[in-house]
Amino acid sequence: MTGGKVYLVGAGPGDPGLITIKGIECLKQADLILYDGLVNPLLLEHVSSEVERTCRVAEGCQNRRVLKQDEINQRLIAAAREGKTVVRLKGGDPFIFGRGSEEAAALRDAGIDFEIVPGITAATAAAGYAGISVTHRAYASAVALITGHEDPTKPDSSLDYEALSHFPGTLVFYMGLHNLRHIVSSLIQAGKAGETPAAAISRGTTPFQKTVQGTLQELPDLVQEAALVAPSLIVIGECVSLRDHIAWFEQKPLFGLRIGITRAEDQSETEIQQAIRLGAQPVLLPTIEISKPADLAPVGQAISRLEHYQWLVFTSANGVRYFMDRLWELGFDSRQLAHLKIATIGPSTAEALLAYRLRADLTPPQYRAEALAEALKPLVAHQSLLWAGANRGREVLQTELAKVSATVEKVVVYENHDVAAWNTESLSLLESGEVDWVGLSSPSIARNFERLLSDAARSQLGKSIKLVSISPVTSQAALEAGLQIDAEAKDYHWDGIFAAIQEYRSLHS
Ligand code: SAH
Repeated sequence: MTGGKVYLVGAGPGDPGLITIKGIECLKQADLILYDGLVNPLLLEHVSSEVERTCRVAEGCQNRRVLKQDEINQRLIAAAREGKTVVRLKGGDPFIFGRGSEEAAALRDAGIDFEIVPGITAATAAAGYAGISVTHRAYASAVALITGHEDPTKPDSSLDYEALSHFPGTLVFYMGLHNLRHIVSSLIQAGKAGETPAAAISRGTTPFQKTVQGTLQELPDLVQEAALVAPSLIVIGECVSLRDHIAWFEQKPLFGLRIGITRAEDQSETEIQQAIRLGAQPVLLPTIEISKPADLAPVGQAISRLEHYQWLVFTSANGVRYFMDRLWELGFDSRQLAHLKIATIGPSTAEALLAYRLRADLTPPQYRAEALAEALKPLVAHQSLLWAGANRGREVLQTELAKVSATVEKVVVYENHDVAAWNTESLSLLESGEVDWVGLSSPSIARNFERLLSDAARSQLGKSIKLVSISPVTSQAALEAGLQIDAEAKDYHWDGIFAAIQEYRSLHS
């Protein structure tokens, strides 16, 4: 046996939060991840391993090579033989209509070590997110998971519709959308009541979940009218009526919206999670990249003469993190700051300090440089302040505090650079007008966003795509860059951006 190992991991049905803790652990450890088309790519945003998407059918498989099941098995085996830790990530549960067991058998035959990490399968997840319990005790004491992917012209259908129509419980068909008319008529012909409640759930647990509900006999027409798309699940049984009472997911405040997140990619995890919690799909449109400064000497010098200052000032959470990390890397810790007062520009900057168990002495009521300068003025006359900031930014603090004879020395603890281009998937969503809102969370982000727009994307502004700004200063910068702002946050952080979209939505619906 070689050192490599394969984990067959269930990714869950679509909502990236519905993967297991063990599944996440596997992703973190993997050298190579092969994932299938049902897996939400957001799950892979933060893994550092090599990642490859596999397709078994050409449909929807843009720019990718179609791999037959046997070729996938061979890839898994070859990578494990090279000693790699491989994750085969599959939608839902790998052993529920997922061919996971075929992959496991091939691995066993090849003598490769493997583990199975089950996932939440579409039947329970999509039904749950649609407000349907497939085993509600008043309605069903059994549930059948059935493949609807059968050639209707096949003379010896392996599905026993006679038995299924008399099954004492809920029927759940996977892969049955394109075969729906055949499934429904076969069931009714075999004796299932046409009046049985039934539902089709498309893209369950994602912001684009759509549920069509009716009687069994109406379902094919309803599905056609609603133009449901794959992946869809068909649920048949009295339990479907529960939905009238307990549907919940589709009622989320930003349900179904695509929202562009313009923060630096490795800084946007909180906003991504918040968008998902509110029912929206985040679209990553980073405009800036954050990194350590090319020249670390000035930070080191500032740190070596901290006793020279009375105040330490942070105007971003990044400033806090990069400064504290450098302090640590140089062999110091927070005791070096014991004599300093600390000022922060706003609540999220103050919160970043908490991670280092430090409290801000001053956070102005309003999140802007002017307000910070005003709040500092009465406290800092003739004192020295060290401002740990970015390579770019306004000079408000220096000019304002000079008025009380305070000196502000700025040290660049991180750099912020413009992104050269967006990834093609995000750009094409903008160009097709499928992004509903873009949040602009600083003046430089607003200017950069404008710069990165293609002509096709620009032409969607004011039509399909709306812009929401984080603050009046940002709105002003956007305006000057030629962008029209549709909503503005009242609280100057990303929660305020989401709240402004919500308010706009309730006013305009
Ligand atoms: N292993 C997967 C199923 C793979 S078969 C699992 O355990 O869920 C693919 C079928 O699963 C699709 O045709 C569809 O019927 C169902 N499916 C997968 N994800 C779904 C989703 N988000 N919403 C509705 N149905 C889904």
